[in-house]
Amino acid sequence: MAPGFPKCDLLELTSIDECFSSINSMCQFLEGEDAGTAKANFEEGAEELSNKDFTCLRIAVNVPVDGTFYYAVPEDLRSGANVGCRVPVPFKNRKVMGYILERTGKTHNKELKEIRDVIDPEPLFPESLVPFLEWMARYYIHPIGQVIQSALPGGLNIKSYKTALLTQEGLCALDSLHSHSEQRKVLSWIKDHPDKGLPWTLQEVYGLQKKGWITIEDRLKKTSGGPLIRKFVRPKRGIDLGAVLSERGGTSKAKNEFQFLETVFNSHGILLSKLTDMFTNGSYLVEKWMGKGVLESYRDAVYRNPAGEIISPSPLPSKLYKQQELVSSHLKACIEKGSFFSCLLYGVTGSGKTEVYYRAAEHVITLGRQAIIMAPEISLAVYLEGIFRSRLGDRIAIYHSGLSQGERVDQWMRMVRGEVDLVIGARSALFSPLPGLGLIIVDEEHDSAYKQDRGPRYHARDAAVVRAKMEKALVILGSGTPSVQSYQNGICGKYHLLSMPERIEKRPLPDVEVVDMKIMEDRRSKWEMISPRLKEALAQNLMSGNQSMLFLNRRGFYRVYLCRSCGQSIRCPNCDVALIYHLEENRLNCHYCGYYSKILTKCSSCGNEGLRAYGFGTEKLEYELRELFPEARIARMDADSTRKKGQAIRILKRFGGQEVDILVGTQMITKGYDFPNVTLVGVIAADLSLGFPDFRAGERTFQVLSQVSGRSGRGDQKGKVLIQTFNPDHYAIRTATAHDYQSFFREETQLREQLGYPPFSHLACLTLKGNNEKNTEEAARHLNQAIRGTLAKWPRRGKEIHVLGPTEAAISRLKGKYRWQILVKSKNVSLMRHLLTRVEQFKGKIFQSSGVSLILDMDPYHMI
Ligand code: ADP
Ligand code: ZN
Repeated sequence: MAPGFPKCDLLELTSIDECFSSINSMCQFLEGEDAGTAKANFEEGAEELSNKDFTCLRIAVNVPVDGTFYYAVPEDLRSGANVGCRVPVPFKNRKVMGYILERTGKTHNKELKEIRDVIDPEPLFPESLVPFLEWMARYYIHPIGQVIQSALPGGLNIKSYKTALLTQEGLCALDSLHSHSEQRKVLSWIKDHPDKGLPWTLQEVYGLQKKGWITIEDRLKKTSGGPLIRKFVRPKRGIDLGAVLSERGGTSKAKNEFQFLETVFNSHGILLSKLTDMFTNGSYLVEKWMGKGVLESYRDAVYRNPAGEIISPSPLPSKLYKQQELVSSHLKACIEKGSFFSCLLYGVTGSGKTEVYYRAAEHVITLGRQAIIMAPEISLAVYLEGIFRSRLGDRIAIYHSGLSQGERVDQWMRMVRGEVDLVIGARSALFSPLPGLGLIIVDEEHDSAYKQDRGPRYHARDAAVVRAKMEKALVILGSGTPSVQSYQNGICGKYHLLSMPERIEKRPLPDVEVVDMKIMEDRRSKWEMISPRLKEALAQNLMSGNQSMLFLNRRGFYRVYLCRSCGQSIRCPNCDVALIYHLEENRLNCHYCGYYSKILTKCSSCGNEGLRAYGFGTEKLEYELRELFPEARIARMDADSTRKKGQAIRILKRFGGQEVDILVGTQMITKGYDFPNVTLVGVIAADLSLGFPDFRAGERTFQVLSQVSGRSGRGDQKGKVLIQTFNPDHYAIRTATAHDYQSFFREETQLREQLGYPPFSHLACLTLKGNNEKNTEEAARHLNQAIRGTLAKWPRRGKEIHVLGPTEAAISRLKGKYRWQILVKSKNVSLMRHLLTRVEQFKGKIFQSSGVSLILDMDPYHMI
């Protein structure tokens, strides 16, 4: 047993209900805060609803404004105006997209504007999802309409555009204008293209409207990604197979004609492509029987099939191991209670968590509710889906941003319609529109990929707990290296702490050996990427026919090009970072903005020749391995080698099928996968993540080392791990080496508590971005003053909030923009959100015409 593991400590179910005070504070909105944000067409509140004859709707509009608005519904639209449908609405002289959140009763306000149309014949999300969407908007301080837009599959989104109509005066003008005049050209284009989007800017055509020649109007247009339409074949109505056959006297020219007819008649409508797959003469037979008036063709929507592939088959084990049994029965009891519970499943890598997830999902489905399983990365979701689909069949949906727009729309609509029992996906699966959600599983809950880095900047794990609470569901957070935050919640009883401390069949955790690179460096003049110790282990592993994985969290070939005369590196002109050499493309790339350049021979600062390349990435590692072991089969998995759809899965499949001996990769290879034949894992530079300017650097290092080590020795043979590092004494490396989570947690929490970092406080990061260096800095200083000024006016509570900064961001220029940051810290999250809401209100004044914009990030993870 790993040292320091707590024993499987199952709390009594009955005593648990009180444990959620902190989640309660996250969910405060449920009780008090509320409904007040809705404004009747900007002002007046609506009255209590009477269910039967509602007359108005509470609508979230897809524009950057706070709150929701009331609109009236004309009688003829009432039956179709359901929660979850989209309606185009007038808003401040524009026509914008709105989402119905609530049907409500009479309002005294006679002035309410009316909706004129309902776009969707069926809702796009269930009513039960509305409170969650509203919470998300409030907690992450993001307009509700835009939260909904980002939750919906892109293919459903509707764009607005401007079109123009010619007036009577315009028609006359067209005749009288000179034939070469620009205005005449515009007018005649408008005449010929009714309803088309204008190819000019508004300013260019506004003058024509002023003259009364045209009227400019808003139109809404669907983006691509509607349903996929395919041709089907079916028997004509009233035609009977028996009669057709007896008419032919049982004879048939083509041998398979009888079988063909039977197939069509039994199907009540079958895809034409399926028929032609089944019968080589399918198209001929279809034509023939359509000609005779027996069959007919029609078009209908089909679901695209993005089903994941099964990387290695996973048969259902006949029985669970003791620790799985204990945890499963606890989860089962929670599920049967049908109320909200949150469990942290702390199970070492290889302890069999997937099987526990499976049992829980299966149980929820048996009780008629649905489940969501989230994984931090698309390829991991696809991998899990393969396992679950092979057991549960087709009532599974896969959902992530790697699907095409059309595929996402299809999967989404299957969920809304109740055709899905289980959704497996990445972060975006959190919003799955399931009508009776009973379970959310967040696998590898510690992974920072759960944090979305564009607005709304939500953390899918935290938000999953809130959604589960709202839907009275069970949430399971699973990890071999729980986040400090979740484990703290486990210890203080907010989450049930369930643990699985052993690998299945009591397989031992791998031996971890630290290779001290400081000593290595003393002995040799040149730093080598692969130490002699690792070289030897790799050779041995190759000989015995086992597989190895090498982890290096840096991609590219050389990391920097330095000038030997002046010491300057070749840098990105848009970002404050060095360009990185990529061998395959033979050029220098910026990893942040996509800028690239060819290799320079002269230094751009001093003009001297003699640039030298330093540092290394995965591409170089792969190259060196090929030189060292020419006979080995080597593959590389990183952002560069998996850019195209399906490439990641292909690499994993080859590795799973033992067609590859050594897999090199970035953090992409550290997660969740189960490859029993891997017996050696090498970590090339454990120090890389320690150097990150972030208070979570130690936590990340511990996690990544434990996770990557966890890939070794999962089968019958014992595994080995070699960690190369310059910091063998750092607590994160020391504790990861000893598989000692408890000691890591103790040291880490002591530090965090001293510095007042999460989980002992909440953080928010305000980033200011601008094209002009001086303006950006000035705006940051103004904002800082305004914030401090506001706090000074709250004599008592103001002291509970600490403001740090403003400072230049760690990457002070990114994609051409200068960046400054202010960090806000407080134990009281409601108070902090109150402050940030105020910031949202006065930011307009500060940034007016300065060209600077503000990004507000609650619970930030990527503060560089
Ligand atoms: P984890 O996700 O905890 O790292 P996995 O769920 O991948 O671990 O399980 C590790 C291995 O153990 C897998 O190959 C899985 O098929 C196997 N396994 C899990 N539970 C059982 C069981 N009850 N009986 C037999 N094999 C099992
Ligand atoms: Zn750049």
